[in-house]
Amino acid sequence: MMEQYFRVKALHPDALLFFRLGDFYEMFYEDARTGAHVLEIALTSRQNVPMCGVPFHAVNSYLAKLLRQGFKVAVCEQVEDPRTAKGVVRREVVKVLTPGTAVEIDPEQGKDSVFVAALHVGPTGWGLALADLAVGEIRVLEGSESDLKPLVDELYKAAPREIVVAEGEEDAAALTAVLDRSDLRRVLKSPVEAWAFEIGHARHTLTSHFGTPTLHGFDLEDKPRAATAAGALLYYLKKVRKDSVSLIGRLSLVRPSDRLILDAATIRNLELVRNARDGRSEDSLLDVIDLTVTAMGGRLIRDWLLRPLTERAGIEARLDAVEAFLGAPIARGEMREALKGILDLERLTGRISLGAAHPRDCVALRKSLLPLPGVRAAIEPVGGALLDGIRSSWDDAGDIAGLIGRAILDEPAFLLTEGGIIRDGYDAELDELRAVSRSGKSFIVELEKRERERTGIGSLKVRYNRVAGYYIEVTKPNLPQVPADYIRKQTLVSSERFLTPELKTYEEKVLHAEERIAEIEARLFQALRETVAAETRRLQAVAAAVARLDVLAGLAELAARRGYARPVIDEGDALTIAGGRHPVVEAVSPEPFIPNDARLDCEADQILIITGPNMGGKSTFLRQTALIALLAQMGSFVPAASASIGLLDRIFTRIGATDFLSAGQSTFMVEMLETAAILHNATPRSLILLDEIGRGTSTFDGLSIAWAVAEYLHENERVRAKTLFATHYHELTELALTLPRIKNHHVAVEERGGEVVFLRRIVPGPSDRSYGIHVAQLAGLPREVISRAREILFNLEKAELDDAGTPRLAYAKERKPDRRQMWLFGQDRQSSALEEIRESLENCEVGALTPLEALNLLNRLVERLRQ
Ligand code: ATP
Repeated sequence: MMEQYFRVKALHPDALLFFRLGDFYEMFYEDARTGAHVLEIALTSRQNVPMCGVPFHAVNSYLAKLLRQGFKVAVCEQVEDPRTAKGVVRREVVKVLTPGTAVEIDPEQGKDSVFVAALHVGPTGWGLALADLAVGEIRVLEGSESDLKPLVDELYKAAPREIVVAEGEEDAAALTAVLDRSDLRRVLKSPVEAWAFEIGHARHTLTSHFGTPTLHGFDLEDKPRAATAAGALLYYLKKVRKDSVSLIGRLSLVRPSDRLILDAATIRNLELVRNARDGRSEDSLLDVIDLTVTAMGGRLIRDWLLRPLTERAGIEARLDAVEAFLGAPIARGEMREALKGILDLERLTGRISLGAAHPRDCVALRKSLLPLPGVRAAIEPVGGALLDGIRSSWDDAGDIAGLIGRAILDEPAFLLTEGGIIRDGYDAELDELRAVSRSGKSFIVELEKRERERTGIGSLKVRYNRVAGYYIEVTKPNLPQVPADYIRKQTLVSSERFLTPELKTYEEKVLHAEERIAEIEARLFQALRETVAAETRRLQAVAAAVARLDVLAGLAELAARRGYARPVIDEGDALTIAGGRHPVVEAVSPEPFIPNDARLDCEADQILIITGPNMGGKSTFLRQTALIALLAQMGSFVPAASASIGLLDRIFTRIGATDFLSAGQSTFMVEMLETAAILHNATPRSLILLDEIGRGTSTFDGLSIAWAVAEYLHENERVRAKTLFATHYHELTELALTLPRIKNHHVAVEERGGEVVFLRRIVPGPSDRSYGIHVAQLAGLPREVISRAREILFNLEKAELDDAGTPRLAYAKERKPDRRQMWLFGQDRQSSALEEIRESLENCEVGALTPLEALNLLNRLVERLRQ
């Protein structure tokens, strides 16, 4: 047997080998060590061979664990009946499961998508194909070698479990760098022959799979890199799981401009799908907004969140549907209730299509189809173009449910081998054999009675067991009464077992019938599974419709529960939010949330510098502004009293200190890389959140960089993006003195009874610059330290502005900004008041004033300032 093991193992060196031995799958040697460690099961040994095993009936949960950890598993079965086999039972690998393709395995997958990717990164550019087999779609994109960012972003979002690469390129530097940046350092790489990535081969694979003469229909004729990635992926699927390609029904090209671009840093920083605390999904935005009730809905809402739209009509169509569901609470409730009965249609379809479905999966599929008419009826009164579309192509799949219902018992056996699957009345031959087998029971009772009478042995029994078959049992004291035609079969301690010719004939007939029954049931079930598998496309379409309804109704439910408002979407460049709230903080914080307004545009309020004490609420304000825009563009209502969103093309974030030391980059370096990406890619349609810049270096360096970044965003026509800039560098508030589209805001605080109270309100103007010292004072720092700090602050402040009141930081080698001109230019009312006051003071001869005149002057100045 071990020889057999070594032969099989040699064919699958890169996979863990699950070797079937009776009721167990065993792993040996290194596989056993790895398996025992990952699965946390006992490592044993026999004749010095390390081994560990898992019971066959629970194998899926073990397989799922290994696959999730990125292992490949080859499943080696006994392919002949051990009872009839001569010598060692023949065994063969019946399937190789890989992390990205084994859609049928994981029972706890829930709402997560499982992607497998094919990727090529070369000197002429890159091509990426991503497939979720359960959904049946390949998505492709490509780009130039100098622009890897879209690739990194897409990989980060999808987090594929397995990446197909050309043989020999597994460790190529370019590929490794991309995977590092996408948080996929440990992903499983599956090599295929390099020619699978050649365009001629790929073109052939694709056109023959989709049955099209060219790639025009997919818009891939002039996208060789995307096409080769898709071709290589299909080739790989065919190779490892021949049957899995039948699941792939769609191929679509991702056009980055169709979607609001969210890069990896932004997805992380805004905690869209994972929180920053421990990387889990709790308290992420998705966690708060996902009220879907089906697995398909859960996957789709994640997709909508990570790929919001940029085109108004598409967004409005979603918003219309959400509004329609919001206005129809009864229909919404009924539909959601009906949806709850629908299990993971995508995965069930996948299992059926891959020939991996048990009878119980078919029953689950049928049960999941039964609520469909109810869903259809519930949405009857709900309006909107999206809903019309769903209604017009509605499919109850009643024929499929009916077919399964007629064929399979409500609670069928788990295994295919022992019968108990098919209903009576489905197949005539089966019914007949069952009649024979059932008549057996009464035959036995009758025979027992007859033999008792004939022999006079009242305790005589006719019995059956698996080992001995049918027999007549007579206890020892009654043996003398046994008739001559009884044939002795077995002797036990207190009894003997006999056969009669009549019983022997009967046994043959019945046992034969039972074997035949099991065989026929298995055959009928497999045929049924194939019939259903032929409807894969239809079932995938049903699943897609269910997913959309679930998401739209879920978003309506969200809006209803949390009081969200429908945003106004326009093509202008302003972002105006009244009474905006942070969706997650609002949901999880025990404190009541204080709403805030925000206004950003490219004309007057392009850059808002937000200052204020630690824990004041700056970051929350920044994030909520971005999250509201993002929710609007995914088609959701938003946590605000009202919001008007000029469509954004990208959201950039530079937030906090991301520790990327493991990737060999210092915090400050990462910060600068992120900033560089922003300055190179932002457009006037982008929204940028900068939560501190330059804090990872010396104050002077940091402040200088921060100042220069703000100037660049303000002055450069190409980037001129709407920006929220939270900072502790108070000096930055002086930017507003020279640059007209920069405005200061701060978070309001109040002192009550010697304590700082955060009001959580964002108000115009810079914060009081000495709040830091103030807080230090409240914290009880010695009085000498506080007063000395005030002196130093005064010195610093004096040096900040020159004699004309212009910030020295704004100086440039060839020019000194003319502050007065800037003011006139910028029509800054507050600044011109200050200018007047300054002039009055400059022209005033203090020695010539009477006390009353001095008082009047002071009064006038204060009045002017208040205006
Ligand atoms: P730091 O400068 O230290 O980063 P910050 O000013 O950015 O601080 P945040 O992290 O935004 O402050 O807010 C601190 C806490 O205050 C948050 O965790 C949140 O719970 C609460 N908070 C912020 N804004 C509001 C609000 N508008 N209403 C209620 N609570 C809020």
